[in-house]
Amino acid sequence: MTTKRAARREDGFSCVRCRAPVPAAAWGTKNRNHCPRCLWSRHVDDEIGDRRSACAQGMEPIAVAARPDGEWAIIHRCTGCGHLRSNRIAGDDDERALLALALRPMASPAFPLDELR
Ligand SMILES: [Zn+2]
Ligand SMILES: [Zn+2]
Repeated sequence: MTTKRAARREDGFSCVRCRAPVPAAAWGTKNRNHCPRCLWSRHVDDEIGDRRSACAQGMEPIAVAARPDGEWAIIHRCTGCGHLRSNRIAGDDDERALLALALRPMASPAFPLDELR
């Protein structure tokens, strides 16, 4: 069963959120773990790449983090168990979806911006 699931993932998977078919190969990543269109992932790993988690719930992209080398990572939070993970972006991730995610706190500030003077 584990083998079957691993084999299927090598051929890609359907997005847990938007159902888009996601090919396994992507420029700039060896280990595709999220949908390039809506950026959702799925909780399949306990440790990165091991595919051993029994959770299998969707992981919502909640933030973008910039690493010291300038590379972006998406912070995913599991809708089933709350697990947090950071994942490198892939070369074909939707740029507008990434920007919308990065700008989300700016779109709903937690304090009045007109007091910043
Ligand atoms: Zn998707
Ligand atoms: Zn989970």
